[in-house]
Amino acid sequence: MSQITVTLPDGSSRKLAAGAPVRAVAEAISPGLAKAALAAIVDGKLVDLACPLNADASVTIVTDRSPEALMLARHSTAHLLAAAVTNLFPTVQCGIGPATDEGFFYDFIVPRPFVPDDLEKIEAKMHEFARADYVYERQMWPRDEAKAFFAARGEPLKVQLIDEKTEGQHDVSCYTIKDKDTFIDFCVGPHVPSTGKLKAFKLTSTSNAYWKGDARNPAMQRVYGTAFLSEKDLKAHLTQLEEAKKRDHRKVGREIGLFMFHPWAPGAAFWQEKGTTLYNVLADYMRGVLLPNGYVEVKTPLIYNKALWETSGHWDHYRQNMFLVQGSEHEQMGVKAMNCPGHYLLYSGQAHSYRELPIRFHEQTPLHRNEESGVLGGLTRVRQFSQDDGHCFVTQEQIGDEVERMLGLIRRVYGDFGLEYAAKLSTRPAEFLGEVATWDSAESQLKAALDRAGQAYTINEGDGAFYGPKIDFDVTDAIGRKWQCATIQLDYNAPQRFELTYTGADNAEHRPVVIHRAIFGSFERFIAILIEHYNGAFPLWLAPVQAVVLPISDRHLGYAASVRDRLEAAGLRASLDERQEKIGYKIREAQLQKIPYMLVVGDKESAEGTVSVRSRSGGDFGPDTIDGFMTKAREEVRSKGQVPVGHAAPGVA
Ligand SMILES: [Zn+2]
Ligand SMILES: [Zn+2]
Repeated sequence: MSQITVTLPDGSSRKLAAGAPVRAVAEAISPGLAKAALAAIVDGKLVDLACPLNADASVTIVTDRSPEALMLARHSTAHLLAAAVTNLFPTVQCGIGPATDEGFFYDFIVPRPFVPDDLEKIEAKMHEFARADYVYERQMWPRDEAKAFFAARGEPLKVQLIDEKTEGQHDVSCYTIKDKDTFIDFCVGPHVPSTGKLKAFKLTSTSNAYWKGDARNPAMQRVYGTAFLSEKDLKAHLTQLEEAKKRDHRKVGREIGLFMFHPWAPGAAFWQEKGTTLYNVLADYMRGVLLPNGYVEVKTPLIYNKALWETSGHWDHYRQNMFLVQGSEHEQMGVKAMNCPGHYLLYSGQAHSYRELPIRFHEQTPLHRNEESGVLGGLTRVRQFSQDDGHCFVTQEQIGDEVERMLGLIRRVYGDFGLEYAAKLSTRPAEFLGEVATWDSAESQLKAALDRAGQAYTINEGDGAFYGPKIDFDVTDAIGRKWQCATIQLDYNAPQRFELTYTGADNAEHRPVVIHRAIFGSFERFIAILIEHYNGAFPLWLAPVQAVVLPISDRHLGYAASVRDRLEAAGLRASLDERQEKIGYKIREAQLQKIPYMLVVGDKESAEGTVSVRSRSGGDFGPDTIDGFMTKAREEVRSKGQVPVGHAAPGVA
């Protein structure tokens, strides 16, 4: 029998009989590893443990400690879900069931939608199958036979998938759980070796879906679940989900009156008074960060002739995501989905010398993207939004300094919101534009900038765009969720398409490099993140209403109004609750509205020219002079709440 040699991650090697399953490698190393094995990586490819080794190969055994294990377990759990569903509801038709960052889902065509009771039964069946430790078996079926099999079972979607995904193949892979009567699915795999490896999972919700996400296709029901490699990780995630539900920005935004939506403007928020205030505070904050740092604010048109979109390449590649509008006859126009092309026209509106560079444009005007209405939800998936957008035009040599400057701004902004973040550098992909040497120089400048800025980062090798490397930033909110916000994206393509130039010291024409950058990303999405991060209790500098004056009775109204006016004159956002309600009720209302400070005024306060200060968290700071409160409040605003000042009673502070 012929032998093959497998090389292990530590450089050692083992000899095995050709054709042995990769599981035999784990068994040869130790019984413990054989038991812990979930899959293997053979010459860089993730495969089942049953996969035969026919030639020399490098092999890594995947266990629950491997980075690949989580998605493997989640995808395998999706099959377990489908097995349980088809066992309990034999007429249900299966669609697809991928792993996701949050867990997994599986789409089904159902005779009637699943209700919460069904989910409980399905989950119980999944646990039953998991306890039984059924084997996931990969079977190679002749393609026609597999298609005929699924067609006969009334599963045309599987037939369609086989048609689409395996064109030209003779055999296709199907996976069974236990046997084909228990469950069979067309899938390329891989999966864990048996259902017993899946222990920590939970079904979380259902939603409406369409086959392939297209509303013209059959309606389906999507069942969401999540799976982890340990019970502990699952628990932590479920706690986070609970907390996220409480903080859902759609719910909190409605409760404190920030924004609303209407079906006649899908995906476009109506900002109510408080929401508009918050939006403007953020917009002005960002101006305050960028304008003193060399950016100029510009406004470019919202609607452009299609010639612009043809030049930028969006007409060919992005048109389906744009709102197209008719100008005058024969004038096809498109609403801008991004600011970049407008900025290129603005840049090329006049000649530039190397001495002017970097040129930094900042723009906050609205953008529109024609997202499918089915995927819209709250402020995180919208059709209309604004970005804290910026485009910097630099020389190749200026990339490093400019990026270092951006990293400083990002650090400052996220610090002001108390958001932790991480950076990831994506480098030259297989298909790229331009010269390797140019890319190498750009990437080494980015790395040097990250190092100089003291910014830790990971590298996504080969994950850059075809037109340039980029750095993406994930922020982590108060309950541990990660959101991609800031981005720094180099672009060598756009300057060519738009023939952007500057005159160099040598008097010749050169191409600038464009750096696209944003820190919030979109205002809408960032506000959603902030609402959930703070659970609606914005720090004083962001709070739409910073203090509410609460008169105890009608006879204190005049004094209360004068207090409100003084606060407003001092630049604080104040309101007055003049309703004829009991003071206790007004305080509770203000707390529910998460207004940072309540200033109660009655006989004593009116007589002495003071206010009784309470905080939304229930703290009672006692009486203070109006000036005393304003000084402390302004100090708290100035420090952005990073250093809470507190409002101790006079004589104590
Ligand atoms: Zn699968
Ligand atoms: Zn851009």
